[in-house]
Amino acid sequence: MTHARSSHRSAKNGLAQRLTLVFGLVIALFVAAVLAINVQTQQRLLTEGETLNIDHLLRLTKEVSSPHLLAGNPAALEIFFEELLERDDILSVFLIDAQGLVFVAGSYDETPFLSTPDDPLIVRARETGIRQIDMDLDKATQEIAGPIHAGDQLIGILRISLSNKGLRQGVRTVFISNLALGLVFFFIAISVSSVLASRLTDPLTRLTAVARKVTDGDLNQTIDIRSNDEIGILADGLNTMLQTVRTSMSEVHRVAYEDRLTGIPNRSWLNARLEQIVQHHADKTCSFAVMFLDIDNFKMVNDTHGHHVGDLLLQGFARRLARCAAEKGLSVATVDHNDALLVNVCGTEAILTRLGGDEFTLILPSHLAKSLAASIVEAMRKPFRLDGTQLPVSTSIGIALFPDHAVTREHLLKCADVAMYQAKHAGRNTVRFYDHESHELLKQRSRMERDLERAVENDAFDLALQPQFHVQTGQVMGVEALIRWHHPQRGAIAPDEFLPVAACMGLLPKIGDIMMDKAVALAASINADRQTPLTVAVNVAVEDLSEEGFADGVAHLLDRHQARAQWLEIEITEGTAMDQNTHVEKQMAALRDLGVRFALDDFGMGYSNLGRLNALAFETLKIDRSLIDGIHDDANAQGLLKTVLDMADAIGANVVAEGVETADQLAFLRSTGCECYQGYLGGRPMPADAFLGWLARQDGSAADRDALRHAS
Ligand code: C2E
Ligand code: CA
Ligand code: CA
Repeated sequence: MTHARSSHRSAKNGLAQRLTLVFGLVIALFVAAVLAINVQTQQRLLTEGETLNIDHLLRLTKEVSSPHLLAGNPAALEIFFEELLERDDILSVFLIDAQGLVFVAGSYDETPFLSTPDDPLIVRARETGIRQIDMDLDKATQEIAGPIHAGDQLIGILRISLSNKGLRQGVRTVFISNLALGLVFFFIAISVSSVLASRLTDPLTRLTAVARKVTDGDLNQTIDIRSNDEIGILADGLNTMLQTVRTSMSEVHRVAYEDRLTGIPNRSWLNARLEQIVQHHADKTCSFAVMFLDIDNFKMVNDTHGHHVGDLLLQGFARRLARCAAEKGLSVATVDHNDALLVNVCGTEAILTRLGGDEFTLILPSHLAKSLAASIVEAMRKPFRLDGTQLPVSTSIGIALFPDHAVTREHLLKCADVAMYQAKHAGRNTVRFYDHESHELLKQRSRMERDLERAVENDAFDLALQPQFHVQTGQVMGVEALIRWHHPQRGAIAPDEFLPVAACMGLLPKIGDIMMDKAVALAASINADRQTPLTVAVNVAVEDLSEEGFADGVAHLLDRHQARAQWLEIEITEGTAMDQNTHVEKQMAALRDLGVRFALDDFGMGYSNLGRLNALAFETLKIDRSLIDGIHDDANAQGLLKTVLDMADAIGANVVAEGVETADQLAFLRSTGCECYQGYLGGRPMPADAFLGWLARQDGSAADRDALRHAS
């Protein structure tokens, strides 16, 4: 930019200077030529005058001298010669007779200086018979020898020495006066040409000034030159061109920065403006809010009413937002806003943009954020009337504050987005300010989501196996397969932490398949040559069980691992089982046909009704840990356990008491009709290898016990 500017400036200066120089030179040359001619003419006139003067002198002297020469009377000429010597320019004058002798002499120093026979001038005059003139430049004199004739006969020679001083003086005066005149003319010429040049270059100067501003990005320029010459035409052309450029630039600007559907600014414009605002308020003395708004269930509107209605809704939504902002006294900036000027979001202006889809942002002064958000929620209470349909709409709003929550553009938008996400999680149609702790949780969660996806791809899951025992005999009856996630950094992660996330991500069926495969393989390996087989219980989520083809998948696994269906028990939670679900019932029926058993997990939480329990005909009821907790000393718990056991008895199911941790609890269970138990007392969930070792030891000691019993 600087480069361009300086090149403009030098171009302008160069032109004016050069023109001045050219004009000045032309005028100066002209004046010099005129003066030179003048000097020459004047000098010529001076010399000519001098020559005439000499000729006249010679003629006069000859006329006066001739008779006296012929008469041989020099005395008659003395007065005349003295008069001649009176003249300033005559230095000496001699008259030589025909014999070459001095006839009359006139000189200031009175001494005849001539040696007449040797004087070259006299010799030449005698020989040629015509006037001879010699210039003595050193002495500044003219030496003249003029022959005097009477008829054809030479009767004498006039020898005059003339001073040149007058002539030289005259020539010098002429030269100096002309030089002075020349100088005056030269300076007049320079000033006139400078004025002339700047007159001529002024429109060009103005043109270049405009060009400079245009290259600096200011297109709002008009060139005000109204002349009929080429520059005027050029200026008109440039004005038209600038207008065209302005029009197309604003069109380009509009296309680039305006959301075509709603007519409000788009994401790019928001980014540029927000960046500008954040940079300008780096001192953090001003505070403003970034609001993220998202239409709740917008996808459903699109799906059920079509994209046309969806588009109308987005337009109506944008209009309502703008109206709400205006009602708070805010003026909402458009893409026509001068990009060079800051949008005053700390004062009275707001920025409304559509980020894309159903996401909008509003940037506004902080102190208005809460009340504006509330009035937006309120404004959405009125259904939208679109294309003949009434559409109830709500919005979730997240707000981040500058500088409290974030100070960079990216962070502000991210925080507002997170806050909006939190508003959605809080049940939609609500407003949330950014909250750092929730954000951390959210970040953890998204990290977990990412890791889980990878875990499913790489099968980072393992079985943890927890045995189930016969309450009376202590014999191992079965084993529950529990999932463990081996996280590369965090180690084993318990299912309660990651299964809800996996459920949200729709990963449960995939994880269920992995677990079922491992469980069936385990059932096959421990029961292959076991006299009394152990039941392997697998937890299956409703998302899994309702999948079409779930039962077929299990059948396929049983077949592949050579396992019997009877060895497998599928645990479903009480909450899941009590919901009417035809898909689940269909899969259950198919599995039952194969011979797979079913257990109702976490039984006793109060969801169950006897009718449905009966219909689903569970083989096993697993009594929830919370019911076992107080059974050894709490009469209430004991009463509740009794009821549950009666219910199980009524539907003919086995009972497994979960979470048995103490010998007292087990002792109480022995006094009831409870068949099996599971809990830390008997054994904690173990990795597969550990479990197999543990089982072998159990089998060994059972065999020893049997041997002992037989022996006694
Ligand atoms: P659950 O099916 O009720 O499993 C029993 C849970 O109680 C296990 O927790 C187990 O470690 C714990 N537990 C066993 N004995 C005791 C005890 O004496 N005291 C106490 N305090 N706890 C005991 P875990 O392994 O963390 O599993 C939690 C839940 O995750 C399970 O509850 C089950 O609902 C679910 N889950 C586990 N594995 C899977 C799976 O492969 N698929 C599905 N869909 N869910 C699973
Ligand atoms: Ca279970
Ligand atoms: Ca349970």
